[in-house]
Amino acid sequence: MFHVKQYRALLINPYVYDFAAYSFWSTPLGLLYMGSILRKNGFEIYLIDCLQVIEGKRKEDGRGPFIKEKVEPPPQLAGIRKRFKRYGISKEELISKLASMPEPELILITSIMTYWYTGTKEVLETVRNLYPGSKIIVGGIYPTLCYDHAVLNLKKADLIVRNNEINLLYNFIENSFPIKLSYKYQVNDLNWPPYPCFDLYDKLHFVPLLTSFGCIYKCAYCATPFMYPQIVKRSPKDVMEEVYYWLERSVSKFVLYDDNFLYMKEKYAKPILKALGNINKKIDIYNPNALNGALIDDEVAELLRFAGFKEVRLGLETTNPIVQKDLGNKIDKKIFERAIDCLKKAGFKGKGIGVYILAGLPFQKWTNVKDAIDYLSDLGVRAHIAEYTPIPHTRLFDEYSSFARYPIKEDPIYQNNALFPFSWEGFCEADLMFLKHYLREKQKNLGFSD
Ligand code: SF4
Repeated sequence: MFHVKQYRALLINPYVYDFAAYSFWSTPLGLLYMGSILRKNGFEIYLIDCLQVIEGKRKEDGRGPFIKEKVEPPPQLAGIRKRFKRYGISKEELISKLASMPEPELILITSIMTYWYTGTKEVLETVRNLYPGSKIIVGGIYPTLCYDHAVLNLKKADLIVRNNEINLLYNFIENSFPIKLSYKYQVNDLNWPPYPCFDLYDKLHFVPLLTSFGCIYKCAYCATPFMYPQIVKRSPKDVMEEVYYWLERSVSKFVLYDDNFLYMKEKYAKPILKALGNINKKIDIYNPNALNGALIDDEVAELLRFAGFKEVRLGLETTNPIVQKDLGNKIDKKIFERAIDCLKKAGFKGKGIGVYILAGLPFQKWTNVKDAIDYLSDLGVRAHIAEYTPIPHTRLFDEYSSFARYPIKEDPIYQNNALFPFSWEGFCEADLMFLKHYLREKQKNLGFSD
């Protein structure tokens, strides 16, 4: 009988080096989608997710601290007075995991934050040493945003792919193996099974739901419009089919990975929220990516509550109208207050309304962040300070990179917000520490201390 060889593909989410990292429902979703696509094409799939969470410390909602170990910083970061760590399993553990599985013919490595590239490089080189004959592909956000840097630094890879180069990846596989891929899903069509291969994890604490790509806005600090230039929405029917698929596998917590959830809300968000609310089982939904308050009305607010949102997160960024306009002009105070009002009327308590404000923008004054904290505290909602990360292919990066105190353009390692790249006399690290303390005190007074 004719026997078709089944090739093995190994997916790797590398460990990372950083000053701080925490799993806010993080998963290597793109990598897991690729795993499912390859599985549909006949590959046998293996996974090593190096970014393991300390299970004993995982919160009920699914978030949790990564396992970590203090390590020496690389030469570029020597002298920075912060503890540098490896988050996730060690290189030795990775090697032992690799030794426990059969040799893969194809290896896919993802790479997320641009300043995490040293971990990706180390994992790539470790895998290459062990498997000199395997085909290794590296993809993810880092190579998409810093392609030239990735090509120079990830020389051991056979292929480096950017987000929009899925056909390059398919061609590479077909040219490397004597196979014809029958399933070639495209990123501009989200209404496709297979679902991401979360079955490769021992236990599922939550599942992210990808409901759209792209964004209608072009905020000056955000790379979403560059990464996903097209807006692609997934049909409510398809989203709900996936939700039921996971419900049958005992998942009850869902995390919306969506930058644009409320765009065309009548056609997409509202039907999804209604259907989620009608599920005959208790579910929790989280939206760490923030909703646009300008698109919240009374009905949306009620539906968010009905659907099972534990907390709603909104983006405000700043209360300074000039800065707000310059950053993206998504919302103003009046519209924002209307959104808060709708959410409160729908039953969300102030503690359950989280609002992101940006800190550390180029030439931002620290008092600008304090004003936003005061404003949100007066409204009785929970402020979250989001420390600005300079991201290539964004307007702020292009305009201000030469003003950063590190060479953020030359070496992505300096794009880490933990380094406070845009510290200046009007807003330095001591100011940031003061603001964090100030916010904690304000939140204590509001009874948000947990
Ligand atoms: S910050 Fe949000 S609203 Fe602005 S471009 Fe990015 S995803 Fe869109």
